Amino acid sequence: MEAVKSYRIQVEAPKDLIEEYFKVKQRALEAIFSHVKISKKAHLSLSREDRRKLRDELLKNWRFSKHYVDSAINSVIGLVKSWITLHNRGRAESKPEITKRTVYIKSTLFSFRDGILKISIEPNKRYLEVDLRRYDWIPSDFDRLGGLLMTEKELTITVKKNVEPKADKWASFDVNLTNITAIIDSKIRCYDLRELYHIHRVCEDKRRRIQRLSRLKPETSKRLLEKYSRREKNRAKDFMHKLTTSIAEELKEKNCGAIMERLKNIKYRILNHSKKMNRKLSKWNARTFQFMLEYKLLWNGLPVKYVNPKNSSKTCPLCSGSMASYLGRIMKCEECNIILDRDVVVVLNLQMRGEGFPQRALDEIIEGEGLSRNETSSIST
Ligand SMILES: [Zn+2]
Repeated sequence: MEAVKSYRIQVEAPKDLIEEYFKVKQRALEAIFSHVKISKKAHLSLSREDRRKLRDELLKNWRFSKHYVDSAINSVIGLVKSWITLHNRGRAESKPEITKRTVYIKSTLFSFRDGILKISIEPNKRYLEVDLRRYDWIPSDFDRLGGLLMTEKELTITVKKNVEPKADKWASFDVNLTNITAIIDSKIRCYDLRELYHIHRVCEDKRRRIQRLSRLKPETSKRLLEKYSRREKNRAKDFMHKLTTSIAEELKEKNCGAIMERLKNIKYRILNHSKKMNRKLSKWNARTFQFMLEYKLLWNGLPVKYVNPKNSSKTCPLCSGSMASYLGRIMKCEECNIILDRDVVVVLNLQMRGEGFPQRALDEIIEGEGLSRNETSSIST
């Protein structure tokens, strides 16, 4: 299995290459799109000969490394093909367009030796050198580098490593709106997400206030909206990065894999605004947490398992009886009378479904946490 991590670093990219690559892509698009035949359904008929001619044409007066032209052609073919797929489903825009000034740098265009990344710009005379050892957050224990993406200011680096994920034990995580409840090493843990919730809410308030302005000053409000959305996204991502990094480190120490719920698409059309908002945030939390934790664990050779969460808050983790609301978020089993926090019920069920009914492990957790039947659990955040 291949574990992948990506990092963005600031670089002074060669502006002339970025501009010329952008122009070459536009010319390639024009040429390739003229080979799209639209009768009932659209399809691309670009022969090997057509492609060779186009390549020769684009290479006239091209002073940069030749592989950039191949990469531009490939990326445009990919773009046209996905446009065709959309078109044939009746969902395509009028015509595909090149909008971003991003250069894809495949592995034939760079070398990596002793921590130095050397990207060919003009054959045998001009290079962009990046010393990856200067960025201590980029791991050095990788097997190879994947293709690079370059914009005017940034270089995205992808590191890859072969792993065979395996673990001695399993931890479980249930992601909610304001907390993540977990079982790690037979202990129930709670990670507070209220700070994250606050970030989202403050930005949502700002957004609504700006939207009210939008009729008077559409340009300004559009710019402000983008600014706040970006800031919110960065802060929220930053929060999740810190949390998942520390959890991944702990699981590495304990040689623990992770069990999480398999997410499905939630329909929130019928809910009111505030509930809709909270559902969206919950979903963002869960997706972002799962995505980040998974690739960080995989990098450490630890597996991740997804289980079906159906009825996980309504089933008694001890006797499989049905649980009903008792007091606020406290649930009570109608069969065995155990009283548990709702989030704890969910995470116990996830753990059980992931491990396949380790009844004894569950008893241990419940005893260890001082949770007994007919006694209210005291899980604090
Ligand atoms: Zn029960």
